[in-house]
Amino acid sequence: RKDTLLYLDGVSRSFDGFKAINELSFVLMKGEMRAIIGPNGAGKTTMMDIITGKTRPDKGDVFFMGDVDLTKHDEPTIAQMGIGRKFQKPTVFETQTVADNLLLSLKGERRGIPALFYRSNKPDRQRIDEILEVIRLERRRNELAAFLSHGQKQWLEIGMLLAQDPKLLLVDEPVAGMTDAETEETARLLRDIAVDHSVVVVEHDMGFVRDLGVKVTCLHEGHVLSEGSLDHVSADPQVIEVYLGR
Ligand code: ADP
Repeated sequence: RKDTLLYLDGVSRSFDGFKAINELSFVLMKGEMRAIIGPNGAGKTTMMDIITGKTRPDKGDVFFMGDVDLTKHDEPTIAQMGIGRKFQKPTVFETQTVADNLLLSLKGERRGIPALFYRSNKPDRQRIDEILEVIRLERRRNELAAFLSHGQKQWLEIGMLLAQDPKLLLVDEPVAGMTDAETEETARLLRDIAVDHSVVVVEHDMGFVRDLGVKVTCLHEGHVLSEGSLDHVSADPQVIEVYLGR
């Protein structure tokens, strides 16, 4: 369908005979933000690895923007197509200012992506101002990233992803290690971003997932156990059994 951004169709992936991903199907619409939950070992990281081309499925297809089969492309190509991933730990340049971290990403220098793929037409300064506002770091723009709190570094890295103008943002456990106040602010920040971006957030923190207020997919043993609103998913007896009730 035209409004589908990402479509995983019957994807499986084993490691040494163990099915980390087992007949997984998943649809993300354009402009949607989705939260992925599930117990440890459910396959969340492997699912992200398959989308970004870090891991190849043994079976199944992964369609992006309609008919691009991501399983036919390598990791750098998929990044250039506009799938940005933020891993759990922040990896900002500590010895650069906040604004320069964003500038490096804008220029596409950070991940070795050639300037050719730099998509925004806006002047850098304007784009950086916009991103600083979204990530709540306007007043820290000229400070070295090293002086930011853990939460602020996570926001800066989300800003660095935004600077690359991704069509899809994959965000892995963004609030791990954050204070309660930072966690709440992160939910607001991601909701702002989701106004004009498609986002997949992998997260354990149920209070945070509730604050996101988006559709939830619960993975278990490499496939979708339950999907819908957080209320629907958390009331699902299977989910209670394998996950929330532990
Ligand atoms: P989650 O992110 O939900 O905790 P993972 O995707 O990390 O789950 O892991 C799913 C299962 O696949 C786990 O049992 C894990 O040990 C296994 N697994 C993941 N990646 C590899 C790998 N590269 N080699 C071997 N086993 C792996």
